[in-house]
Amino acid sequence: MELHSTFLTEIDKQRLAELEQFINLSNENSIGYPVSKDFDFSEMMPFLKYPINNVGDPFENSINKVKTHELEREVVGFFAKLFRADPNDYWGYVTNGGSESNLYGLYLARELYPKGMVYYSESTHYSIRKNIHLLNIPSIVIRSQENGEIDYADLENTLRINRDKPAIVLANYGTTMKEAKDDVARIKSILKSLAIQDSYIHCDAALAGSYGAFVEPRVPFDFKDGADSVAISGHKFIGSPIPTGVIITKKSNRDRIAKGVSYIGSLDTTITGSRNGHSPLFLWYALKRMGVEGLRQRFQNSLEVAAYCEKRLNAIGIPAWRNPNAITVVFPKVHDSIISKWQLATQETISHIICMPNVTKEQIDNLILDLQNCVEVMENEYEFNF
Ligand SMILES: *Cc1c(COP(=O)(O)O)cnc(C)c1O
Repeated sequence: MELHSTFLTEIDKQRLAELEQFINLSNENSIGYPVSKDFDFSEMMPFLKYPINNVGDPFENSINKVKTHELEREVVGFFAKLFRADPNDYWGYVTNGGSESNLYGLYLARELYPKGMVYYSESTHYSIRKNIHLLNIPSIVIRSQENGEIDYADLENTLRINRDKPAIVLANYGTTMKEAKDDVARIKSILKSLAIQDSYIHCDAALAGSYGAFVEPRVPFDFKDGADSVAISGHKFIGSPIPTGVIITKKSNRDRIAKGVSYIGSLDTTITGSRNGHSPLFLWYALKRMGVEGLRQRFQNSLEVAAYCEKRLNAIGIPAWRNPNAITVVFPKVHDSIISKWQLATQETISHIICMPNVTKEQIDNLILDLQNCVEVMENEYEFNF
């Protein structure tokens, strides 16, 4: 890295150089968290000169013109189509990440059903619990099956007991640890069989939504399947230097909460006021590069690496497994030194590798070597020392 600023001392420059080196190295070895790193936005660099602010509703006119609303609308439209929303009844915006997208979905649900109850499984991402707390909505945790999918029988029984209340069901499309996918159509039919008419299904597809349309056989998760809103993260499967996400909802639902604000000359329909205007630009550029077919191919590559990873781990005696068509490989927690080096997300007794597009077979091979070398270390550690 080249640093020419005269106000930086040699020590400052040294620190920045070391920081960049450290991030570079850590970035190479990170295979446990879901991010893609194969992006190149250098063509978009000229836009970093401008204070782009997408304040306000991307689908409404506003006074400020230093913004990327038009591209933001196209990004929203891309995912609305991919998630089979009604072309005449969709809305959405580019958020700061999956967590904000989830907050928006739950916010909309609460505004529609202020007396509603939220149902979510124990495998649900931590952002949901926090969002429910922020929104102050009553909630009930539903059991998960061993593979991380919601326990439909427990959901049905719990809904039955609370039939008098509007139901807000949080479905996961790709849980954080095991990439389990809850069947939205099945949840919809449970609600129907109990004759619960006031209901809302928000689908947290932060992890797997970007490739959900390509999963065969399909696991129902989108608008046609019964979802009322779908949340995704943009920096995970697609990749972005800045965390970002997208929320897609029904326009008719958004209209019920829209309030005009004269100061910005637009509708205040988003969670934050000022909004990042560069993220929609990056997402738009990435989607132009990949297109639907590129995304599909990306998913196929990830699946192939995941299958390879599972096979290699099994071959050295580690009982790794995957949910059907998941790119997340789950296995019993490994030695701390491996967790730290490869930044493997670990929860209680399990670790995982998420084979996002940046994870290569070479990395898997190197991890396997480390694991093989580590077996001896572990045996020594667990010996009694007397
Ligand atoms: C990553 C993730 C989130 C949160 O998304 P951020 O973009 O990190 O805010 C929510 N739910 C699931 C299942 C996720 O994997």
